[in-house]
Amino acid sequence: MSVLVYIDQANGAAKKASLEAAFYGKTLAAAKGTEAIGVYLGEASADEVASLGNYGLSKVLHANDALFNNFDSKAFAKAVAAAAEQTGAQTVIVPFNQNGKQLAPRLSVRLQAGYVPGANTLPNDSGELGKSVFSGKAYADFKVQTTKQIIGLSANSIQVEKNGDSADVESFNAGVSAADFATTLIKKEVLEGEIPLTEAERVVSAGRGLKGPENWGIIEELAKELSAATACSRPVSDIGWRPHHEHVGQTGVTVKPNLYIAVGISGAIQHLAGVNQSKVMVVINNDPEAPFFKAADYGIVGDAFDVVPKLIEEVKAFKASN
Ligand SMILES: Cc1cc2nc3c(=O)[nH]c(=O)nc-3n(C[C@H](O)[C@H](O)[C@H](O)COP(=O)(O)OP(=O)(O)OC[C@H]3O[C@@H](n4cnc5c(N)ncnc54)[C@H](O)[C@@H]3O)c2cc1C
Repeated sequence: MSVLVYIDQANGAAKKASLEAAFYGKTLAAAKGTEAIGVYLGEASADEVASLGNYGLSKVLHANDALFNNFDSKAFAKAVAAAAEQTGAQTVIVPFNQNGKQLAPRLSVRLQAGYVPGANTLPNDSGELGKSVFSGKAYADFKVQTTKQIIGLSANSIQVEKNGDSADVESFNAGVSAADFATTLIKKEVLEGEIPLTEAERVVSAGRGLKGPENWGIIEELAKELSAATACSRPVSDIGWRPHHEHVGQTGVTVKPNLYIAVGISGAIQHLAGVNQSKVMVVINNDPEAPFFKAADYGIVGDAFDVVPKLIEEVKAFKASN
């Protein structure tokens, strides 16, 4: 019984979350003594699809069809269910990103499969797997009771290793037509050059302590030097200093990067809810009593306008000497 991995893609390139799902699927398949197979929906080059072998997929079913270039949860669920049937997979791994969160519940109904959203461990020998709950404040183990299972893999939960292999690419007829799509994409505006916040390994975030939008240059420069995405607290986007898609927290985007740098952010519980699963949190604040310091791995008490430029210089110097 192979493990099936849904490869979420954009513009013919697998998303980082899909590479993690592939590696997770391969690791799980190896433990079960079977293989991990991918299902890739949408136009992409054969090299791109075969390169998923690097992450442990032995084979990828590829519906190389423009019909799938834009995501629709209803049509995609039908296609992935067909792939599960074709491969006999009883476990399907789905990246727990925007598309995966829409796809997995529909797939769960189609396959009559139990679904664990946002898992961040592999199942143990008893089939139990863990996930964060209560906005990352607690941890819970789940066990799927149905024969088939769907695991929604939380981003940055697993350290991916490449193996240099290439996957067999098999043409896949998903049995889906335009009539299966419940929605049609009318217009898409892609923000050029930005690292998507949910996929970023490093995030530089700032709050009201920055005083105004004209001061964001140091945040953008630090982010650029660190190859990081930029984010902000909610009031900052509410008052229009930064775009809404940068707002992190309970009512905004949840991020889980390896490094989260918070500049001039107090650390309210609603903000922490969206960032406290970051691996390392660095807080820069001029108030030593700021609540964020309690959650921080590293804290710098100081004025952002002194500390951040010095940090930029240090990062530049480090990069120049390495
Ligand atoms: C229902 C609800 C949902 C919410 N959802 C969210 C959410 O999703 N995300 C979110 O972020 N907030 C959310 N909030 C708002 C949240 O409660 C806080 O009000 C908000 O996070 C505070 O933003 P801030 O830290 O940027 O600003 P402030 O609270 O004003 O803090 C600014 C910080 O900057 C520091 N500072 C000032 N000057 C400097 C300087 N020169 N150098 C260094 N530090 C300096 C100050 O010491 C202070 O700690 C929500 C609130 C509610 C009620």
